[in-house]
Amino acid sequence: MTAILNGSDRCLYCHNVFSTEVSWQSFVGIEAKKLLCADCDSKLEPIKMICCDMCGRPIQRKEKTSGRFSLKGKHISSNEQNGDFIPSTGTNSLPPLFSHNPSHLCSDCHWWSTTPLLSTHPVQHRALYTYNVFMQELIAKFKYRGDAKLAELFTDGLKELTKSIGRIDCVTVIPLTDERLWERGFNQSALLAQAFPWQEILQRRGTAGKQSKRGRKSRIAVFHEHIFEFTKEANERIWKDKYILIIDDIYTTGTTLRAAAELFYRRGAAIVYSVTVARAVGQIKNKT
Ligand SMILES: [Zn+2]
Ligand SMILES: [Zn+2]
Repeated sequence: MTAILNGSDRCLYCHNVFSTEVSWQSFVGIEAKKLLCADCDSKLEPIKMICCDMCGRPIQRKEKTSGRFSLKGKHISSNEQNGDFIPSTGTNSLPPLFSHNPSHLCSDCHWWSTTPLLSTHPVQHRALYTYNVFMQELIAKFKYRGDAKLAELFTDGLKELTKSIGRIDCVTVIPLTDERLWERGFNQSALLAQAFPWQEILQRRGTAGKQSKRGRKSRIAVFHEHIFEFTKEANERIWKDKYILIIDDIYTTGTTLRAAAELFYRRGAAIVYSVTVARAVGQIKNKT
């Protein structure tokens, strides 16, 4: 039903008609297509300042942590400690781009740096927007109500964001379980990745006929559970020294992305980057 409402003058989210101004850019076709009305668009919160080079954690008010952190034996001070932040270096709508020498870490990344493999092979992440209430609704609509067209809102941004990475040998997405895929009919991450030459590389382990009705697990437990594996074809490929980009919809604790990255690192990949549309803000609780 939603597909017929996707005319250029109807908001993809609220479906209200909105007027599009005709400019010279529209004539030459270079103007970015407007998909949301001004009201909905104003509810998006692009991430423009971050306090962590690594995970791209957005700054928030009353950010408060302390201590000096070290990565690979090098002592660095937490950006959160002194209220420092890294402003956007890209175009106005993009967060600070990927860093070739990430040095400012948040407390969360510091904690991850104590995990054996990821201490030397961290995952550098960036997201386009804060996972605020509006974004929650937008993504829920996109994810659960089959509104696949909404992916178009983000594909250009994701593509632009990854331009700063430079070399990328392989782009892939976080896979859904077979059960979820059957329920939804599509993998939202694959839709987000449509602007990239992405490949199906990962799959969920042991999903067939296996219900995991476990309680909440700590993220380190989830991480060690090895929830992903390579597909048969991917398993036969050489991953040594490869540069990988993983695309997903939301970053909450980063556990899922790190679990996926770990697979590549175990096979000798050089660097794993990740991007998501949205990023949760706030202190991560229950770290252990
Ligand atoms: Zn709207
Ligand atoms: Zn971080």
